[in-house]
Amino acid sequence: MIHFTNLSRSLEIGSNCYLLDMEGSRVILDSGMHPKKEGSEACPEHALIGAADPDAIFITHAHLDHIGTLPLLQDRYPAAEVLMTEGTAAIGDAMLHNSVNVMTAKRTQDGIVEYPLFTHGELQRAVRNWVPRPYNSPFRTGRGGQLLATLYDAGHILGSCGVMLEAPSGTTVFYTGDVQFDNQTLIEGADFPERGVDVLIMECTHGATERAADYTRAKEMRRFADTIREVLEGGGAVLIPVFALGKSQCLLCELGRFKKRGLIPDVPIYFGGLSSKITAIYDKLADSTPRLMPGYRLAEQVETHGLPKQGREPLVASPGNIYLVSSGMMSEHTVSHKLAEQIITHPRDAILLVGYSDPESPAGIIRAAAPGEPVQLSAKGGQKYPLNCRVERFDFSGHATRRALVDYARRLAPRKVLLVHGDAEALEEMRRAVSAALPQSEVIVPEPGRSMAL
Ligand SMILES: [Zn+2]
Ligand SMILES: [Zn+2]
Repeated sequence: MIHFTNLSRSLEIGSNCYLLDMEGSRVILDSGMHPKKEGSEACPEHALIGAADPDAIFITHAHLDHIGTLPLLQDRYPAAEVLMTEGTAAIGDAMLHNSVNVMTAKRTQDGIVEYPLFTHGELQRAVRNWVPRPYNSPFRTGRGGQLLATLYDAGHILGSCGVMLEAPSGTTVFYTGDVQFDNQTLIEGADFPERGVDVLIMECTHGATERAADYTRAKEMRRFADTIREVLEGGGAVLIPVFALGKSQCLLCELGRFKKRGLIPDVPIYFGGLSSKITAIYDKLADSTPRLMPGYRLAEQVETHGLPKQGREPLVASPGNIYLVSSGMMSEHTVSHKLAEQIITHPRDAILLVGYSDPESPAGIIRAAAPGEPVQLSAKGGQKYPLNCRVERFDFSGHATRRALVDYARRLAPRKVLLVHGDAEALEEMRRAVSAALPQSEVIVPEPGRSMAL
């Protein structure tokens, strides 16, 4: 028998974590931390795994909603084998150390006494037990090596993978993790299995979003370049809030290309913090991980200016500069948030939104605000700023479109499809769309905390 339990606390993109019992072998898929919640509320329901150690833990990629609570899980179940790609191990290490710093700062700033959930030392010990595995090379895991596992390139960020598991009976389960089938600047689209999947566990981030029929990434990139040029030529500063991992590296590469092709003026690009650390890992693995431009190293190709150390001299937004800085949602205490407070009131400046932003985050609030409207950038009240700067949105998603996801499910035609990693609307729309595409298959949105037989 195969049993599946969704260990996330609710039906949303949060603390992704799933338990699979495959004919006696117990496997955990991902162990994320909710990006918006705090403390134990941000953690998956690890207690539902039970007292006995699972046999293996798979981490699909190094975004915190997939790896953020891994050290806690390892602490609870030290005997479990921890498996991921080389890229995820390298980036995950950096992401989690940064997370310790963020949690420690929140303990002081916001008084969250349970933070940090783990220390740098505990993380170091946990990392030693990670086992890196290459793509497309089946290996044995599970109880007594009874499961056959293969990692497939998911095309989402460096190191991202989908996990294929084959039980002793021959039944197969494939978990996509986060997936992008189209090429992104540095990362080649997913290289996923096209047959032989009985149960598909699929992400649904864009389940409720429809892209314009004439969208192309190249056209969108050109609009991005044109907007940057207009703002700079008009004497403004450009703020591009980005996630440190994935989008930062792609867009830094694009900005370098824009300059080389003369699409934008040769102005300083400010870039730093966690984004720089992750970029160094992208560069270090330039020859050993699959990518569109093998050997291409960002540090050699694109000149950047660093950011002042946190707490030292303040960063002042100056006209004629590009600020490609995190956080992507302009969360409080981050560089992008501090710059937004300066830029928002200046009609000549611009904020270019290039990724997902939660509606309640500062980026989400700016996205929804009308020109001139007073905007509050802090959840805890504080000053209101008139939205005078230019705001533009761009679609450079690292996730597959709804159409691509449904097409993939249709080609695979699995017996069952489990839909995860989406908000309630996205999951429901996907349930409808996949059911219509695959009338013979059972399509399920697994409720948190409830074990189901597959
Ligand atoms: Zn991700
Ligand atoms: Zn995710």
